[in-house]
Amino acid sequence: MTDNPPLNHLKLTAHCSLLTAYYSSIIMRVSYTSRYYADIGEGHVFPIRKFELVRDRLLREGTLRPQQIVEPLPALITDVLLVHTEDYVTRLRSGTLSPREIRRLGLPWSKALVRRSFLAAGGTINAARFALEDRIGSNLAGGTHHAFPDRGEGFCVLNDVAIAIRVLQRDGLIRRAAIIDCDVHQGNGTATIFEDDESVFTFSMHGAKNYPLFKARSTLDVELPDETTDDRYLEILQEHLPQVFNHSPEMIFYLGGADPYHGDKLGRLALTIKGLRERDRTVLAECKRRGVAVATVMSGGYAANISDTVEIHCNTIRAACSVFNSSQSSAAALK
Ligand SMILES: [Zn+2]
Repeated sequence: MTDNPPLNHLKLTAHCSLLTAYYSSIIMRVSYTSRYYADIGEGHVFPIRKFELVRDRLLREGTLRPQQIVEPLPALITDVLLVHTEDYVTRLRSGTLSPREIRRLGLPWSKALVRRSFLAAGGTINAARFALEDRIGSNLAGGTHHAFPDRGEGFCVLNDVAIAIRVLQRDGLIRRAAIIDCDVHQGNGTATIFEDDESVFTFSMHGAKNYPLFKARSTLDVELPDETTDDRYLEILQEHLPQVFNHSPEMIFYLGGADPYHGDKLGRLALTIKGLRERDRTVLAECKRRGVAVATVMSGGYAANISDTVEIHCNTIRAACSVFNSSQSSAAALK
């Protein structure tokens, strides 16, 4: 004879309340290290201080507690070689990239730059592992989507998200993944890396007239006209998100670029800070609703006022905390 229905019901109720208690007590973990900074010279268009400023602002306001910040180790060479060529990695590490390659990268080579690139990749690998355990994880860096297997470009040295996906797949933790790339520039490196790989869905929503001049082919590319505003952007995003989930990803990487902002020097779109926060909330809420783990990474942001870029990146973490119910009070419980 089987258990009678009321007993089953009781077991199920107990199980559900345990699960609820578990999830409501989840405290989002984020990757960060002060060594995400490297000296690239005063006045460089890339705001390399933003990583530290985002961390500081989130700690100061109490969105994050120090216990939630996990320092990454640099990605292992064997992990990086799952995506990048041995020739590129060797020359990158030894400082023997050609002047043309360095010009294309747009950042001056230094040991600290190489170190920060490996650390940022390690941070994204960690964020992905946090997400698999807790449903949400984040890296306060990363999203360097213009890096190709054999070269860097557009301020992107290593393709951290591609490395993280390959590591998770190699370790048997996931088979299928998806990338939601909302940086204003097309994720051309990422699209190329996964072009012939149907296990990874690449979705890029970007400015049609923006860099890169020659676009690669993502699984799904959505090109936006100059001066696209909040309402239109959110409408287009909502319209295309279901295609990402139809791929049945076990893990999503979200690039919450700050550069679709109207005040961005390299943006060309016209979104407000409020609209970008709504974008983050829309993507993250959909991941939660569909039960797909999500790791957030930063990608670009070049506002005339760096404080705006920092605010937009902070909003991604604030949205993640509120959507996944990782509240300040649960963070305080860690103390
Ligand atoms: Zn960008």
